[in-house]
Amino acid sequence: MPRVVLTRFDPEHERRRESLTALGNGLLVVRGCPAENDADERHYPATYRAGLYDRQPSCVEGQEVSNAAIVRLPDWRSLKVRIAGEDAWLSVETAKVLDYRLTLDMDEAVTRRELLFEDDHGRRTRLVECRLVSMAAPNRATLRFELTPQNWSGRIEVRSGLDGDVENGNVRRHRLYTRRHLEALGTDEPRAGVLRLRARTLQSRIEVAIATETRTPGGEALDRRTTVEPARIWEDFACEARQRRPIVIEKSAAVVTQQDLTVSDPADGALEALADGADFEQLRGPHAAAWARLWARFGLQAKREELERAVHFHAFHLLQTYSPHSHHFDLGFPARGWQEAYNAQIFWDEVFVFPFLNLRYPEFARAILLYRYRRLAAAKRAAREAGFAGAMFPWRSARTGGEETPAFQYNLLSRRWSRDDTYLERHVGSAIAYNVWRYVLATDDIEFLSEYGAELMVEIARFWASRATLEPASGRYEIKGVVGPDEYHTAYPGAATPGIDNNAYTNVMAVWTLCRAREALARLPARRRRELTAFLGLADAELAHWDEVSRRMRIVFHGDGVISQFEGFEQLAELDWQALQKAAPGQRVDWILQARGESPNSYQVTKQADVLMLMYLLSPAELAEIAERLGYRLGPRELGATADYYLKRITHESSLSRVVCAGALARIEPQASWRFFETALRTDMDPPPGSNTEEGVHLGAMAGTLDVLQRHYLGLDPGEALAIDPAPPAALGDVRLVFQYRGCALELDWSGGRLCVRADADNRACVPIRHAGATQPLAPGEARLFEAASRPANGPRAAA
Ligand code: BGC
Repeated sequence: MPRVVLTRFDPEHERRRESLTALGNGLLVVRGCPAENDADERHYPATYRAGLYDRQPSCVEGQEVSNAAIVRLPDWRSLKVRIAGEDAWLSVETAKVLDYRLTLDMDEAVTRRELLFEDDHGRRTRLVECRLVSMAAPNRATLRFELTPQNWSGRIEVRSGLDGDVENGNVRRHRLYTRRHLEALGTDEPRAGVLRLRARTLQSRIEVAIATETRTPGGEALDRRTTVEPARIWEDFACEARQRRPIVIEKSAAVVTQQDLTVSDPADGALEALADGADFEQLRGPHAAAWARLWARFGLQAKREELERAVHFHAFHLLQTYSPHSHHFDLGFPARGWQEAYNAQIFWDEVFVFPFLNLRYPEFARAILLYRYRRLAAAKRAAREAGFAGAMFPWRSARTGGEETPAFQYNLLSRRWSRDDTYLERHVGSAIAYNVWRYVLATDDIEFLSEYGAELMVEIARFWASRATLEPASGRYEIKGVVGPDEYHTAYPGAATPGIDNNAYTNVMAVWTLCRAREALARLPARRRRELTAFLGLADAELAHWDEVSRRMRIVFHGDGVISQFEGFEQLAELDWQALQKAAPGQRVDWILQARGESPNSYQVTKQADVLMLMYLLSPAELAEIAERLGYRLGPRELGATADYYLKRITHESSLSRVVCAGALARIEPQASWRFFETALRTDMDPPPGSNTEEGVHLGAMAGTLDVLQRHYLGLDPGEALAIDPAPPAALGDVRLVFQYRGCALELDWSGGRLCVRADADNRACVPIRHAGATQPLAPGEARLFEAASRPANGPRAAA
C-alpha cells in the first residue's frame, strides 16, 4: 500500500497538511494539527463529529441569517513539552527544525510525524508523534509522543490539556458569522490522570463529553497536578529525560455525544469508553484490522505509482468520511468532509461518490440514500410551498432537510456581500434519482426500491413534470428560472429576478428522471407496484403526462449544433478570463468581476463543467436516445463540437470541473481527458491557488477520479447486465481492481492492452456481461478477455 510522505517543513502549508492528514472513522474527524501547537495563523486544531450541526443567527446586510454549521468540538489533543527552566513549549515556532518527515500510512490509517528540533542552547531533541482515530472503536482517538534528547539530559515538563473554549474559525469568510456554537458545561478529574469535559451545542442542544488519559509507559510522571477551570482542564507533570533514551507519552481520548446509540449519558459514556485502559498499540491492532477489512473491498492496484497513490489517498478520505460506523446514523455525504469547509453541508457531490460505493460498499450507498429519504417530507413541503408537485430537494442540506444555502456570500476581494442564488440549483433532485437508480442497478436491491427508492424517484419526477411548463412559442416544455451546475450564471444580465431558462443539464436530467422513474415502477413486482402507486395516488393520466413532458422538453442549441448551456448563453459577451486570472493570481473570476462592479452573468465564462456534466453522467448511447426521444440529434459530431466550445470557456474554479472534463472527454479526446485526469488526481495534494484545501478536502473530485478510472476508462458500467467497454487512455498503464456486482465478487485486470474479468469461484450465480452488443453469462470461477473499444480518429481539439 502506498504512503503519503512529506519531507520538507513548509510553514505556509501547515493548515493544508492538517486537512490532508486529518484522520477519521466516519464519525469522528481530527485534523492533523501537531499536538504541541495551538490554534494560530498556521495551525487549526479541530475535532468534529459527523452530522453534529448547530445553527446560530448572524446579521448580514441588515438581515438575520442562520445556517447549519458543523461544530468544532473541544480540543483534546493538546500535549506540550519543554525542557525544565524554559518558558517556551517545544514547537516549530520556538525551535529550529533540522529534520522533518510527515507520513500518512494509509494501510493502517496512522500518521507519523518525525521532527528534529534544536533550541537556542544547541540542545537537539527528536520528537515522533503517531496518531490514529480508531476505525474499530469509533469514539476513540489516541496519540503517542516519543521524545528523545539527542545531546542533553535533564528534566522535561509536560502539559496535557482539554479545552472547551472553542469556536469555529477555519473558514476566513465564515468568520463574519457567529462563530460560537458550543458552551462548556464543566470539567472534572473523575479518576487520577483522567480529565473530562462536558459541553453542549448552543442551539441544537446536543451534549458532548470528552475524557482523556495521559500516561508515560515505561517512565514515571513526577509532580502530577491538575488545574481545573470551568471551560478547560489540564495536567502538568515532569519526566526525567536522558540522552538518547526515548520518553514515551501517550494520550488517549474518548469523544461521546448524546447522539451515540448505546449511551444514555455522554459524561458516563466517555469514562466507560476509556475504562479498557488500552494503550496506543492495543488500540492500533483492531483499528488496523478494521481498515484491512475495508481495504480488502477496495482492492485497486495501478502500475503507475502516482496513480496508485492518488486513488488510495482519495479512497482513504472517502472511507474516513463514510465508514461502517456512519451508516448506522442519519448521515448524508458532505462535499468537503466533516470539517468546516461549506459547513460540512450536503450538496449533490455524492453523485460522484456512488459509483465507488455501489461496487464496493453498497450498504454505505444505501444509507446515504436513506438520509435523503428521511428528508422526503421536507422536500415535498418545499415543493408545495413553491407551488409545485412532488419533492424539491434543497441545494444544500444538513440536519432538517430545509434549504441551507446562505442568503449572501462574502467577496474577500471587494469586501462586499452579494446575494447567493445558487439555491435555484434544482438539478440536485435529478442527482438523487440518478443515485437511486444506479444503486439499484448495481445491487438489484428490490426491497430498497420498493420501500424507498421508487418513491423518491416518483416524487422527484413529479416535481419536474410540474416544474416544466408548456410554452406556446416553442411548443415545448420549458424549465425556467433555475441555476445549472455552473454557479457563475444565476440570472440574466440586469434581470431583477434570479434564474436562467432551459439549462440543458437540468432539462435533460429532468427527462432522464421522468423516464427512469417509470422504469423503476416497471421494475417492481406487480403487487409492490400496485401498493406504491395506490399509496402515492399515481394514476395513468399522470404517467401519460410524464411521458409527454419527457418527449417535448426543450433543449436549446446554438446555430452550429452546440448544446447551449441555457437559453441566451450564446448572446453573452466573450471574456478573456485567462488574462483576468493572470492579473490577479489565485483570485476567483467572479470575485474579480464583482470587484469591478461587473458580474459573470454577463459573460460566456463558466465556473465549472455544466453541459459537459451530461457527457460525464450519461453514456453517448443514453444521450443519443434522449435526444431522439425529444426529436433532436446528439451524435459524436454534436458532442465533439459542444465539448470544444465549452472547454474554452471553463475556468475550472470548482474542483469538480476537471474530473468531469476527464470523464466527458474519455471517449472523444483521450489525451485531453488524461491531462484533466492527472490534474484531478492532484486536486488537494498539489492544489491550484484558491482551492482552500486547508478548510477540508474535496471529496467529490476525489471520488470522481475513481469513477473516471473505473467507468470511463475501464468501461465498467453496472446495468441490467454488467457492461464492459474499456477505452483507457494510452498513458493509463496496468490496473487491477476488485468489485462486486449484485452480490457477486469479480476481479478486473487491465494489462497489455487487454482486459480480463474473472468471477469469484464462490459466486452463487452467473454474472451477465454485456460487451460489443451481446450479453453472455460469466460463470463462477470463469475468466474472460475483452478488447478495448476503438477510438474515433478525430475529436475536439481540447486543451486541458
Ligand atoms: C460547486 C458545486 C459543488 C460545491 C461543493 C461548489 O463550488 O460549484 O457544484 O457542489 O462546490 O463541492
